This record gives sequence, structure tokens and C-alpha cells, in this order.
Amino acid sequence: MVMSRPVLACSVRGCGLPLERHDAHVTCPSGHAFDVARRGYINLLQPQDRRSPAAGDSREAVNARARLLAAGIGRTVLDAFVHRAVSLDFEPDATVIDIGSGTGDALAEMASQRPISGLGIDLSTAAAEHAARRFPHLTWAVANADRRLPLVDGGVALILSLHARRNAPECARVLAPGGYLLIATPAHDDLVELRESVMGERHQRERADALLGEHEPFFTLMERSTVRERRPLEREALLDLLRSTYRGGRSSEATRVAALQQLDVTLASDFFLFQRRTLPVPTDLKQQ
Ligand SMILES: [Zn+2]
Repeated sequence: MVMSRPVLACSVRGCGLPLERHDAHVTCPSGHAFDVARRGYINLLQPQDRRSPAAGDSREAVNARARLLAAGIGRTVLDAFVHRAVSLDFEPDATVIDIGSGTGDALAEMASQRPISGLGIDLSTAAAEHAARRFPHLTWAVANADRRLPLVDGGVALILSLHARRNAPECARVLAPGGYLLIATPAHDDLVELRESVMGERHQRERADALLGEHEPFFTLMERSTVRERRPLEREALLDLLRSTYRGGRSSEATRVAALQQLDVTLASDFFLFQRRTLPVPTDLKQQ
């Protein structure tokens, strides 16, 4: 049985052999096996990942994000992100992975516009379940992408990272030379009004310098841009923003939002398009 691309790799520490898919599980040639959940996603979590305090987004956070997108909130950023990804130069049916795929909307939107072999990876079981239910034609996996990406070396054409954490050496390892990494991070004024009114702080720290430094050894920065939308939001949408953004929101913050009728809110993201250098990655920077 030949597994179609993307070529998933065994996530057992020190293994990394290609996985082959059977009906209800996937296995590597060394005999490590992982379940394919009844709902269609592949669970590649290792015991040390399950014990991690950051077990990924809760079902409540995933549902809140899905409701916001369904109401068009955050669509400007998502559509611009997908538009940039779709217009990149790569072969039809190339492997595209979304790290921190969440509700699955970005990858699914991209797949609706261009033929790709898509894989979404998220640490949250609730997120993978949600995405697999809505977009069963794509592959969804639960894995800790902070540690190691569950993919063989050099087979990926494009990595998407929309407001998610990622590991730069791992992104470089799985990308083909010349492959792309498209990242969106919250801009300095993202949700500024909400942060000001419920958290008493206006500015968030600048992320760009740290991000550029992390990726510089492996990637060339091709483009940088910012996308914004600003719109009046009612209380329910504000509560959903809090649920989706601040990991459920502390109760004191939810109480302050509940006292608001409406608030003009800015949603803003910085986009960074990197291209994998064609030179080999220096061995002292390679992971494992
Ligand atoms: Zn294995």
C-alpha cells in the first residue's frame, strides 16, 4: 500500500522512518504504530507530549475561532494569507503543510483554489477533530510541531504558519531546497482596543526581530507586509475573541468584556515570506 504524499514520518524519538497507512492505524518499518482516530485524524503524539502543560487549544477556543471566521471576522487576514500562498511558484499537487492548523480553514481554502497535497498539524486534538470533520479530503495530524515535524526530510514545497509557534530548524529540514515558509504573526496593534479595555495594556512586544533572527540561518526573507481589518464588534464576538486569543480568557477579563456593548477592534497581522536556502544547513545547527 503506497501512501500518497505528504510523506509522514514516525514521531518516536530517534526513528523518523516513513509511515505507511492502513485502515485504522499507520505504522513505520520498525513496527511503531499510531492510531487513525474514528474521526479521521492521525494521532502522532508521544507520551512526553501528552504530559506537556501546553496540550493545545481547547474545544471552546477552536469553536470560538470557527464562529468568528463564519461571521467573517478575521477573514481579511485569512484571505490575504491564502491569496499569497496560492500565488507562489510550485508544482501541482505539491505537499503543503499548515503548522498549527487550528480550524483548518486556511489550508482548506488554499486547497479549494489550487491542487495541493495538504497536511494540517496541530497539538490540539479538538482542532484536528474539527478540521477532519469539515475537510475530510485533506490529511490532519495531532503532533507537537515545536519539537519535531512528523515528516521525512526535504519533501515539502510550502509551510504555512498562521499565528502559530514553529521550530525554524525543523521547517528547514522538511522543506525542499527553494521551498517556501509563509508566516503570519499578530501585528503590534492586533486587538489593541480589546487589550486596552480588558487588560489595561495597549502595546504588545515587537516580535519581528526575534523571528527574523531565528530564521536567518536557513532562510532568505523574500517579502514582508501587514494586513489589517478594523470593525465594530458586538459583545458575543468580543467574548469569542477573548476565548480564542487568551486561552479561554480569565474570568475578570470576560466580566469586563461582558460590560461592553460594542467595540471597534483592529485585527492585524504581519506576513513574512521566507525561502529555504539552497545551500546545505550547517550541521551544528541541525536538530538531532
Ligand atoms: Zn518508528
